[in-house]
Amino acid sequence: MANNEDKFKKVISHAKEYGYVFQSSEIYDGLSAVYDYAQNGAELKKNIRDYWWKAMVQMNDNIVGIDAAIFMHPTTWKASGHVDAFNDPLIDNKDSKKRYRADVLIEDYCAKIENKIEKEVKKAAKRFGDAFNKEEFLTTNGRVLDYQEKINSILSKMGKSLEVEDLEAVKALIEELGIVCPISGTKNWTDVKQFNLMFGTKLGASVDSAMDLYLRPETAQGIFVNFLNVQKTGRMKIPFGIAQTGKAFRNEIVARQFIFRMREFEQMEMQFFIKPGSQGEWFKHWKEARMKWHLSLGMGADNYRFHDHEKLAHYADAATDIEFRFPFGFKELEGIHSRTDFDLKQHEEHSGKKLQYFDHEENVNYTPYVLETSIGLDRMFLAVFSNALQEEVLENNTTRTVLKLPAVLAPTKAAILPLVRKDEALVKLSKDIIEDLKWEFNVAYDEKDAVGRRYRRQDANGTPFCITVDGESLDNNTVTIRHRDTMEQQRVKIEDLKTIIKKEVDVKEWLMKM
Ligand code: ATP
Repeated sequence: MANNEDKFKKVISHAKEYGYVFQSSEIYDGLSAVYDYAQNGAELKKNIRDYWWKAMVQMNDNIVGIDAAIFMHPTTWKASGHVDAFNDPLIDNKDSKKRYRADVLIEDYCAKIENKIEKEVKKAAKRFGDAFNKEEFLTTNGRVLDYQEKINSILSKMGKSLEVEDLEAVKALIEELGIVCPISGTKNWTDVKQFNLMFGTKLGASVDSAMDLYLRPETAQGIFVNFLNVQKTGRMKIPFGIAQTGKAFRNEIVARQFIFRMREFEQMEMQFFIKPGSQGEWFKHWKEARMKWHLSLGMGADNYRFHDHEKLAHYADAATDIEFRFPFGFKELEGIHSRTDFDLKQHEEHSGKKLQYFDHEENVNYTPYVLETSIGLDRMFLAVFSNALQEEVLENNTTRTVLKLPAVLAPTKAAILPLVRKDEALVKLSKDIIEDLKWEFNVAYDEKDAVGRRYRRQDANGTPFCITVDGESLDNNTVTIRHRDTMEQQRVKIEDLKTIIKKEVDVKEWLMKM
């Protein structure tokens, strides 16, 4: 597909055209950075959530799942640090009146240098052909090393300034790098200010007694405050994990990039409670386990990388992001954080309740350390969807648009197509097949247009299989099954359909690749 910007535009329009994602309240011209999942999108999102839940909760006998409320006691957010420190540094351009996140402006600047590195790699790969060793090139080529050094020094400078909240230094860095506003093209910047991202609301009917609440900005705190409840009622022994998926809300300043950064989004988080001192080992374990989960979907190892944090949040002693190659470059998809005992200690202090674990084997009481894995469901959706959307030039020089979703995640697993819609016997047999298959899979019926057009429609919709019912089907109970990715067609017995489809879409088959 053409350049990245074009590709991203196609992703957004395809998501709308094929019933995956709509702008929220579109008839009122939409609401910025809020989106609705449509008929196919809701299925894809559910399948991603299930794929995560199965791998995380069902397959681990020491991890359980909960579903905490979005509203929490307001002290929760004082304890967690969100009231005082959940801020983004923002800066305005005085000419365009546009508002930006200062750190994002600087990161985007670094991403441009990163692109230069990628260009050097591509050039060298072409020049050296099979003999090209990317690892070696990245660690020895003078120009690449200079670029990398520049990126490291900028990010480290920014990290240090943000850590000590030296906002003047952040502005100075933006000026020093000569960063201009993408809209006005000028360097006419305001000072950098902090902006709290939590949405406030009120609980209660009367103005006097109403209580100020926040919509949760992350799901994690619902897990921490329930730590002891789950541990006791589930008789959980350390190490153990608590997982949950659910909505989170952030008043994002830079809310562009479609569902990458939304004001209302969904997280899939797991907090793993461990013995103090074992965090290094568990950090390594979860880094590997989470990357394996991603790779099991077959979206290409080249499209992922770790980004270890230079600047650690106040609660963390190690952190890394799993970044994915989105159409607009490598960006965070998932965070893995070693959070120490910060959260439990804070909640102990603010609630006055002990949140400790008694280790029966060693006969000691302690506050567990926590290892967190946190992934945005919507970001994962965007990763899967944008990676799947492809335009292929076929042998006869026509192009086809195909959504190569991992079959396990596809909203519709098979479409059943009677070859001729006016032939009642074919229609009846098609509907009988649907009646049987729908107990196990999401299937669709499609009778309009020539069969070739129907194939294309299902390709663009991401349906892994098309099953065509024709005259021969009536004679010998066979149908044609067409595979979306290879476009291969096979004649198979109707009674074998379930097994054939199941083999390709079964969660077990996919997770076993981990
Ligand atoms: P970013 O740096 O991109 O703002 P973050 O580091 O603040 O993300 P975390 O607080 O670690 O994000 O949240 C965990 C995950 O939740 C992220 O990896 C991301 O996938 C997802 N996420 C965070 N903010 C948003 C958002 N506004 N819209 C969609 N997903 C989000």
